[in-house]
Amino acid sequence: MTRRIYVDSPNSPVDIYDPEWVRLNVGGCSFLTKRVTLEKVPDTLLSELNEDSPHYHHPTGQYLIDRNPDIFQYILDFYRTGQLHFPHSLCGPNLKKELLFWGIDESFICSCCWTRYFFSQMLNVLVQNK
Ligand SMILES: [Zn+2]
Repeated sequence: MTRRIYVDSPNSPVDIYDPEWVRLNVGGCSFLTKRVTLEKVPDTLLSELNEDSPHYHHPTGQYLIDRNPDIFQYILDFYRTGQLHFPHSLCGPNLKKELLFWGIDESFICSCCWTRYFFSQMLNVLVQNK
């Protein structure tokens, strides 16, 4: 299994037990980020994570979340950069499900990706009403 670790700066030594850092395991892939990064978007699943969360795994001190890690990297980048982009290969309804799970409003999608998202949603409605 491939294990990936994403950090804000690959050269900075990180004590993984440092309370400023949060360890996430999403769909089997490790992600490391700062607590302040996750707090940048309030009222979302990630900003509300704490040790009482059902996702918290006490023996390992990380949060275990069974979602697609390839999509999650774009979610986490949104917290880091304030810009929500997604790849062309990701269809709108799939992205919508992920945004619902993470508690992120679709209005955060950047204008460059919004048109593709919007038309994908419209196409999905048309196909379902056919
Ligand atoms: Zn974009």
